[in-house]
Amino acid sequence: MPSKNLLQRSLDAVWHPCTQMKQHERFPLVPLARGEGLWLYDTNGRRYFDAVSSWWVNLFGHCNPRINAAIAKQLGTLEHAMLAGFTHAPVVELSERLSALTGGALGHAFFASDGASATEIALKMSAHFWRNSGKPAKNRFVCLAGSYHGETAGALSVTDIALFRDAYAPLVRQSETVPSPAAADPLAMAQAAATAADALDAWLATHADTTAALIIEPLVQCATGMAMYDAVYLQRARAACDRHQVHLIADEIAVGCGRTGSFFACEQAGIQPDFLCLSKGISGGYLPLSIVLSTDSIYRAFYDDSTIRGFLHSHSYTGNPLACTAALATLDIFETDQVLAANRQRAAALTTAAQTLAQDSRVSNFRRTGMIWAFDVRSDDPSFGRKAFAAGLDCEILLRPIGSTVYWMPPYLFDDADAAFLVQRTGDAIDAALAA
Ligand SMILES: *Cc1c(COP(=O)(O)O)cnc(C)c1O
Repeated sequence: MPSKNLLQRSLDAVWHPCTQMKQHERFPLVPLARGEGLWLYDTNGRRYFDAVSSWWVNLFGHCNPRINAAIAKQLGTLEHAMLAGFTHAPVVELSERLSALTGGALGHAFFASDGASATEIALKMSAHFWRNSGKPAKNRFVCLAGSYHGETAGALSVTDIALFRDAYAPLVRQSETVPSPAAADPLAMAQAAATAADALDAWLATHADTTAALIIEPLVQCATGMAMYDAVYLQRARAACDRHQVHLIADEIAVGCGRTGSFFACEQAGIQPDFLCLSKGISGGYLPLSIVLSTDSIYRAFYDDSTIRGFLHSHSYTGNPLACTAALATLDIFETDQVLAANRQRAAALTTAAQTLAQDSRVSNFRRTGMIWAFDVRSDDPSFGRKAFAAGLDCEILLRPIGSTVYWMPPYLFDDADAAFLVQRTGDAIDAALAA
């Protein structure tokens, strides 16, 4: 229907994610034309600094020439084939390289297309492991207060965010929650981690017989509002899981791929989980891809003459060669550009540039882990987040606050001038949102 504009056609035909569609009567959609580097451009020629990496997926900018070239080459070779009974170089190479990044500890890669599916796979594998090991009663899970692991029914069972969960509660077998180790005050973090670890240990001591796994977001609980915690909790959680014979699932869907400063967040605690879930940034923000890495001992519990002892889970696009190729190109950039080291410089520069904002009286709890910055804006307005999103667009910046928590998760390519722009325009957007 060419007579109607793109926005109206979108509202008529596209049901947008995580959106009360009626709010678009007040907050218009942004019709995108193209992306380049840090920037998204709309059909009116306006630009937006992608300060949230398009929902935390983009690592090296939009239309990155190196990732584009790798995908284009693969596109002319093999676009997709089923992975059951077949294999191909991109999926093998990606599995090997991810295993190497874990020092060989997590040497078996299972593929899917999105983060929630990775959560489902880790939960199912864990419970199935215990069933295969003669302990079928170990089929429940424990998660942290405020956790987010995706929004399919199984993933919701370990998600503790009322906004996403409550409407579907009757559909979900809710898991137990234990206290979060996160603390707003940096000086209280060590104590909060110790207290939460004690609570976990006590809970596992009485529930290990029926518990398959603990699932956590290492270092930062992102979706609940960038709640950050001390790495010592990961060490204590690993020890408690070992002591009580419960699996540890590290959901690194948001925090993996360098987001917290190390390639995997778990590295900062010197621990290995039994399962590690990856998605979002692993394909550079190009194509849907998720991966569950697991240990040899998990894998061996499924390896048998009996078909039903195998892991019979599948998705149509499992191991998609284009997505694997995007991931390989992403890993290449990490290596050739020494991204983790370069990010330490970027992080220091942006943190310095943000000092005035951090001390602003409108702001509290300014915090950072690696390439994630967050702070809380003093506002009682329940629509502050939407207003700040709209005001951000007016200031050429894509912000998507969680309630009154404003955060930056930028792609790994900003320079000092970009950092100054980000800080300045975020301040302007907060001013406008508080006045609106
Ligand atoms: C985004 C996210 C998921 C879900 O990933 P989707 O691809 O959106 O299904 C799961 N866990 C964490 C920690 C996430 O941030």
